[in-house]
Amino acid sequence: MKKNFWKKKKLDELTKDEWEALCDGCGKCCLIKLEDEDTGKIEFTNVACKLLSLKNNKCLKYEQRHKIVHDCVKLSYQNIDKIKWMPKTCAYKLVSKGENLPEWHHLVSGNIKSVHHSGKSVRGKVIRENDSIELEKYIVNWI
Ligand code: SF4
Repeated sequence: MKKNFWKKKKLDELTKDEWEALCDGCGKCCLIKLEDEDTGKIEFTNVACKLLSLKNNKCLKYEQRHKIVHDCVKLSYQNIDKIKWMPKTCAYKLVSKGENLPEWHHLVSGNIKSVHHSGKSVRGKVIRENDSIELEKYIVNWI
């Protein structure tokens, strides 16, 4: 991977490795969201998808995730700007808009854990999805 590749390339020009490296690991996109059927308003919760590791914020079944969780959205350069619930800090969103990555992003800091140390990730702030959770009680404003 070339140094500062995200500054020199557009999302559709990234290699697979560059695309994967761009994710900051915040885990916000892996939280359960609730949509109001009448207004379309989307609320975030502090309940994580059952596949999110609460230790390191990585998907426990990354390659099979779409088969296991049917509404898991596969991000691409074509849909990143259309998904209204992606957090403003999402690295894909930032690069798509031609903006720089924040200093806590591991590609800038050189430390894969800086997203956690800076408090920008959901690690330590969420619980895992289970059948007994009443999601309405867990609505939070993350963004
Ligand atoms: S919100 Fe964006 S940067 Fe954060 S974990 Fe999801 S895809 Fe990665």
